[in-house]
Amino acid sequence: MKAVQLISHGTPGIFRLGDLPSPQPAPDEVVVDVRACGLNRLDLWLEEGGLPIPVQLPRTPGAEIAGVIGKLGSDVDDWRVGDRVAIQSNLFCGQCEFCLRGDESICLKGQLLGVQKDGGFAEQVVASARSLVTIPDEVDFETSAGLTLAGSTAMHMLTNRAEIRSADWVLVMGGASGVGTAAIQISKQLGANVIATASTLEKRNVAMQSGADHVVDSTSENWPSEVRHITDRRGVDMVVEHIGGKLLEQAFACLARGGTVVTCGATAGREVQLNLWPLFVKQQKLVGSYGRNSADMIATLEWAAVGKLKAVIHKRYKLEEAPQAFADLRARTVYGKAVVVI
Ligand SMILES: [Zn+2]
Repeated sequence: MKAVQLISHGTPGIFRLGDLPSPQPAPDEVVVDVRACGLNRLDLWLEEGGLPIPVQLPRTPGAEIAGVIGKLGSDVDDWRVGDRVAIQSNLFCGQCEFCLRGDESICLKGQLLGVQKDGGFAEQVVASARSLVTIPDEVDFETSAGLTLAGSTAMHMLTNRAEIRSADWVLVMGGASGVGTAAIQISKQLGANVIATASTLEKRNVAMQSGADHVVDSTSENWPSEVRHITDRRGVDMVVEHIGGKLLEQAFACLARGGTVVTCGATAGREVQLNLWPLFVKQQKLVGSYGRNSADMIATLEWAAVGKLKAVIHKRYKLEEAPQAFADLRARTVYGKAVVVI
C-alpha cells in the first residue's frame, strides 16, 4: 500500500511516498481502507518535532481518518467488512477509570493516532475496534475527514467541558480555522451570539459565512476593546481558545463576570501570564479541553447528518501531494480544512 511517511523532523520535514506492506490487524483491531484524511495543527507539530512526547520515525501522519473497513481482527464481532467508519484519533484503553466513566479524552494510556501510531496519509491504517465510529449514510468521507477531529474538538469544548446557555455571548478565537468554523456553528445552534476573531479579510469572511454575528481583526492592537464595545462593555460569557500566548491573555480582557475561557491548544505559545486578581474577583474560569470522547465524535457526525454542522473544506489534495498540504497549512494560507483524498 502507498503511504506518506515523515522520515526527518524539520520545517519543512522530509517526507517519503513509498510502498509499504499492507498492515495486519491484531485480534481487537481492524484495517481501514482510507478514503479521506484531514490535516491538522497536530500534524505540523509532529512534522517539526514540537510535541512533548517521544515520537519514532519514520511515521505516517494523519489523524482525521474516514474510510471503509477492509479487514477484521479475529476477535472483532461488532463490525463488518465494508462498514463506513471514522476513527477517534485520541486512542484510548477502554479500561482505566476515566475510560470507564466515558472520559476517553483523558485516558491514562491514551495515544495519538498519526503520532504514536501510523495514521491516515496512506491507503490503509490499522485501528482498534473500540476507536471506530459509524459514519452516517448522509455524511460523505470528505465531510467526515473535515469534521471528526476539529469539529469534535469544538463539540467537546462546548458541550462537555463548558456549557453554553441560550443568548450567551461567545467569542471564537481563530474563527476561520477548523476548530473555529465548527465552534461558530455549534455555538449558533446552541443559541449564542457569536463574535469571531481572524487575521485577514478573507478569513473574517469565512467566519461570517460560518455564522458569526460579528468579526474582529485579531491583528489590530486593541481588538479586545472592540469585543467589549460589541457587547456594550459587558464582555463575553465564553471564549473558545486554541491559540495561546498573548492572545489567551487578551481573551481574558474580553471576558464578562462569571465567564469561562475554554482552551484546547497553544499554537502561539504554551506559557502565559495570568492575573489572578480579576480571575477570582470576577469568578471566572479557565478550563482545559483535550481531544474528544466517543460521545463527541458521534454527536459531531449526527449533527453533520442533519445539516447542523458543515465541514468548511478549503483545499483537497491527492496522497502524493500531502507534503504540499503541510506547507500550505504552515503558511497559514488554508482556512477551514485541508483534506487529503485517497
Ligand atoms: Zn483508558
